[in-house]
Amino acid sequence: MDCLFCKIIDKQIPAEIVYEDDLVLAFKDISPQAPFHALVIPKKHIATLNDITEEDRAVVGHMVMVAGKIANEQGFAEAGYRTVFNCNQDGGQTVYHIHLHVLGGKAMGWPPYQETLKQPIN
Ligand code: AMP
Ligand code: ZN
Repeated sequence: MDCLFCKIIDKQIPAEIVYEDDLVLAFKDISPQAPFHALVIPKKHIATLNDITEEDRAVVGHMVMVAGKIANEQGFAEAGYRTVFNCNQDGGQTVYHIHLHVLGGKAMGWPPYQETLKQPIN
């Protein structure tokens, strides 16, 4: 399958791995948006959040748990951090293998979109 993150799982493409087990892999984002920025991905290829099925319940729950574990190891669990799943075009998804962003090490902003994209909310 021609998927960048499947290639990282298969070690065909290098990545700075921060956590790995039977179900998930976590590695540093190549373009960090915070002092610490990693991605937690399932080893099973799932293209978007819309493709998650009942049988993926355990792995998706595990991804969230691993995000917390990484935050703890990195030392910013108590201070706080941001986890994000982007879905499809409006969500800003660019790699179509689900991934949970884990961002930490500084205070985060809200809302999560650029001022230029702001539209009235009715
Ligand atoms: P998204 O825009 O939510 O789909 O996030 C995709 C993320 O993957 C972006 O933050 C990219 O910087 C990151 N990324 C793309 N290619 C690589 C790579 N080879 N290794 C690590 N992270 C990557
Ligand atoms: Zn994949």
